Amino acid sequence: MSFVEVAIKVPLPRTFDYKLDDGQSVSVGSRVEVSFANRRLVAMVVALKSDSQVPENKIKPITHIIDNEPVLSAQHIAFLRFTAQYYCHPLGETLFTALPGALRSGEHPDKTTVATVTLTDAGLNAPKLRSKKQQALLAQLHASGASSITELKALGFTKQQIDGLQEKALIKQYLAHDTQWALSPRAISSKPRLNEEQAAACSVINQHQGYQTFLLEGITGSGKTEVYLQCLEDIINSGQQALILVPEIGLTPQTVNRFRRRFPDTPIDLWHSNLTDNERLHVWRRSEQGSCALVIGTRSSIFLPFKNLGMVIVDEEHDSSFKQQDGLRYHARDLAVYRCARANIPLILGTATPALETLHKAIDKKFQLLTLSKRAQTKADNQFLLVDMKGQAEQSGFAPATLKHIEHTLARGKQVMVFLNRRGYAPTLLCHECGWLSECSHCSASTTFHKAMARLVCHHCAQQSYVPAQCPDCGSTQIMPVGLGTEQLEDFLQQHYPDTPISRIDRDSTRKKGALESALADINAGGKRILVGTQMLAKGHHFADVSLVIMLDVDGGLYSSDFRATEHMAQLITQVAGRAGRSGEPGTVLLQTHFPEHPLLQDLVNNGYQDFARYALQERQEAALPPYTHLALVRVEGTNSKIVIDFLADLVPVNPYSGIQLLGPVPAPMERVAGKYRYQLHIQASERPTLHSYLAQLMNYINEHKLANRIRWSIDVDPTDT
Ligand code: ADP
Ligand code: ZN
Ligand code: ZN
Repeated sequence: MSFVEVAIKVPLPRTFDYKLDDGQSVSVGSRVEVSFANRRLVAMVVALKSDSQVPENKIKPITHIIDNEPVLSAQHIAFLRFTAQYYCHPLGETLFTALPGALRSGEHPDKTTVATVTLTDAGLNAPKLRSKKQQALLAQLHASGASSITELKALGFTKQQIDGLQEKALIKQYLAHDTQWALSPRAISSKPRLNEEQAAACSVINQHQGYQTFLLEGITGSGKTEVYLQCLEDIINSGQQALILVPEIGLTPQTVNRFRRRFPDTPIDLWHSNLTDNERLHVWRRSEQGSCALVIGTRSSIFLPFKNLGMVIVDEEHDSSFKQQDGLRYHARDLAVYRCARANIPLILGTATPALETLHKAIDKKFQLLTLSKRAQTKADNQFLLVDMKGQAEQSGFAPATLKHIEHTLARGKQVMVFLNRRGYAPTLLCHECGWLSECSHCSASTTFHKAMARLVCHHCAQQSYVPAQCPDCGSTQIMPVGLGTEQLEDFLQQHYPDTPISRIDRDSTRKKGALESALADINAGGKRILVGTQMLAKGHHFADVSLVIMLDVDGGLYSSDFRATEHMAQLITQVAGRAGRSGEPGTVLLQTHFPEHPLLQDLVNNGYQDFARYALQERQEAALPPYTHLALVRVEGTNSKIVIDFLADLVPVNPYSGIQLLGPVPAPMERVAGKYRYQLHIQASERPTLHSYLAQLMNYINEHKLANRIRWSIDVDPTDT
């Protein structure tokens, strides 16, 4: 008799055996249907066996074989097994997290075709269209050549706009066939001559055989993307595929067009959270069959099953969106390191502001450091200005000196960018008479006042309520907003400069599909003079005319309980600053602070992130914090705080385990969210193997624990928010 070991999407840290009937055959990596706890579930075969520990009268047959051909290769299963082990997550849930939705639910892998659009001759020579949107779509197709409808939608275009152009016969649609792309010399459109540093970086990367992680540390605008493009040329020409991982909000039309323009007849697919199940399956299959050369994707594209992967690039490797914060809590950058090592191929981590973990490995020579120290197009560096806020008569957060700088910049015909990482009008309402604060009844947080919506909104559980006309506690009508949000900044600036067009960019103003893209286009066309925004504005965009960047509140990052706060603040300041003076003259970066003498701030503005980061690493070493030690959290949440705390307290052994330090239970930074209490236990070890063997033991203990089904628990390995 033969048996199969299958993984099922259930929160249990084990696999299950089923038996095969005579004549049935199935391979590892194929899906089968099984009966499990009286339900029919899709399961993944992870091993074939000639015998099983399960008694013969207990073992069930599989109900149905779904795949004749495996949908996961043995190599890919090995990668996902590592992922499950490393992140202490059940194998079944890990496999099914990695699979696209359509395969999770048992659909046939080859059922997709994808509609593609290209310009007709009439479209190629079309005069300017009256409809702005249709004109933008036409321009996009000029820049990108043939594009799938999915991709156009991802860039914010609608079906109506596409149909509109088709009615005018300016474009035609066809179904793309998954032909293998030819290995002939490819058209490479014109490219700039690399400067010395870029050329050196490219030649080091291209001449390397096999696995190596390269940290490409280059200031914003130093031409990192150009290095990626030229390295990719070699990969594509040798018939291999490449994956380019980008932050969630870095997948902009500007980025995509740049790749498409450089490699005009090379199939490039996009992968991001807005795809439908069908579209995901399509990209998944194309990567597996070798039908696409490049995938540009967000975090979960690290799980795509490339047939012939030759290189991985992680752009803005420090970005927090590469870490998944629920379920399988993986870090796409760290998995890329493992995946490339196994596949024996190069990995490029590019950033202006390396994560301290990454920099540490580069200093330790585990990664090879390549540096770009000069801007590719501008000669001079940006200038930093610290505005001391002590005793200032501020108006909606702006110091008089800051307003002067804005006026001066506008008068010179340049754009101004104002940055504050808080959306809404004000983070809380306060009663002037009794001190009542607007607080969420389900979370330990205040509710944010949104003036235009006339609502109080909790940014943690999304609960909304009306703005009270009177104080709920004392009945006073003296209720006022406290603190600042981007909506208030826009309001104030618009009143202060009534003739200046202002654009606000945050999650509220860009909720509609395509709103962000059209706002960015308007900024680039010069229609807006002041840009107000959250970190959505900070990353990746190229605004040629911004010459003054203002950050209103940098103090929060200087004094915080999270040991990563200063690192994140320095990265943000540097990224935001990189938006100024992208071409032509150098820009000015103005930081408002109550602590202009703070040594970290001084180091950052005088010596740059490179210097700051090396100094911050020393501090981490002295404090025995990551990356000099290794950290994991047991996160627990539940409606009854006593059970949550008791459960965690019970995990702390009487005799400490050698090489492991435990801290907790401590409340999570947000102790209560959506009615659930959240506590955590910190587990720290100076050696990674010690940490992992301890976690394996701990997981067994937790799974047997009598309180485990009364709370929700998870283990977070290498957490990025503590
Ligand atoms: P980064 O990715 O480091 O921010 P980019 O690759 O986007 O930098 O380069 C910034 C700008 O400089 C872009 O407009 C790019 O086209 C241009 N650029 C990059 N390398 C060169 C070069 N060697 N010669 C001329 N222009 C370049
Ligand atoms: Zn009151
Ligand atoms: Zn809430």
